[in-house]
Amino acid sequence: VAKTEERNAFRFYTPLMHADARRRLMLGVDLRQALVRGELYQVYQPNVELRTGRIVAVEALLRWRHPERGVLLPDEFIPMAESLGLIRQIDEWVMREACAQVRRWDDAHLPPLRMAINVSASTFGHRTFIERLSAALDAEQLDGKRLLVEITESAILRLGEQTDRTMHALHALGVGVAIDDFGTGYSSLAYLKLSAIAFLKIDRSFINGLPQDSNNAAITEAMLAIARSLGLRPIAEGIETKEQHEFLLKAGCAEGQGFYYSRPEAADEIARQLVRSPKPAKLRLVPPKRS
Ligand code: C2E
Ligand code: MG
Ligand code: MG
Ligand code: MG
Repeated sequence: VAKTEERNAFRFYTPLMHADARRRLMLGVDLRQALVRGELYQVYQPNVELRTGRIVAVEALLRWRHPERGVLLPDEFIPMAESLGLIRQIDEWVMREACAQVRRWDDAHLPPLRMAINVSASTFGHRTFIERLSAALDAEQLDGKRLLVEITESAILRLGEQTDRTMHALHALGVGVAIDDFGTGYSSLAYLKLSAIAFLKIDRSFINGLPQDSNNAAITEAMLAIARSLGLRPIAEGIETKEQHEFLLKAGCAEGQGFYYSRPEAADEIARQLVRSPKPAKLRLVPPKRS
């Protein structure tokens, strides 16, 4: 469907259309309504300190409770949201809801944690991004340190001059940036010098075959070395087994996320996990500043 014809998408619906294309078209129409109807919601997946099991952060993951199709995962609608130009609206809802949730957990006197949100390239690169993010923090009276923005390396590299300005502004707000799916994008590592980048999330595809897969083991160790030498904090994604956990612990990875610790869960379940989570010796929401 051509961009200019978005609003008239129904016109393109014909019985001759391929079933898959038709399905996507209909979903696109529904997605416009989803925000208004309150069909989007978030689940949260803990990031744990590998040494202690303590929950230090959660990542907000988007879900869509579709009236007929049931719960849809982001891979089933985010790409469409991007091509329909709906993603910035969705990302804004995500920021606001994430901040509101941190506020609710704080008000319930749960141990303070960092909230990570996924932000798409078009949102991150947009000139109003910082404004919107600050407004979301202000609305809940939250310090920027409580928030972490996840962005993929390919998204960073697709962005132009706005990137530097946005990174500086995030840094000034205290909002951290994590490179999501690290290792799967472009090979240039120059962007890792950008001031706001504090975390590297090592993609699940490398964690997958650990510890048997010697290539993935070597790649993971190399990525941990990069993180260490640049003063970035690594977070391993997609940890599913005790063996993977132990490999990463031994390799010096401080933080991890994956089904081994917890699936993405509703806020109430996260609250229960937080109560059981070991208490910190000393709270540290962000890694030490690099010189
Ligand atoms: P991601 O940011 O890399 O998120 C991690 C994905 O891995 C999540 O899938 C999570 O459920 C899954 N995962 C976590 N631990 C494990 C594990 O141990 N094993 C396996 N097999 N999978 C695990 P999900 O929720 O389907 O999200 C997929 C992607 O959608 C995310 O990848 C992110 O790029 C995007 N996304 C999610 N929420 C949002 C959002 O609010 N806004 C935007 N723009 N994108 C989002
Ligand atoms: Mg992510
Ligand atoms: Mg990821
Ligand atoms: Mg991913």
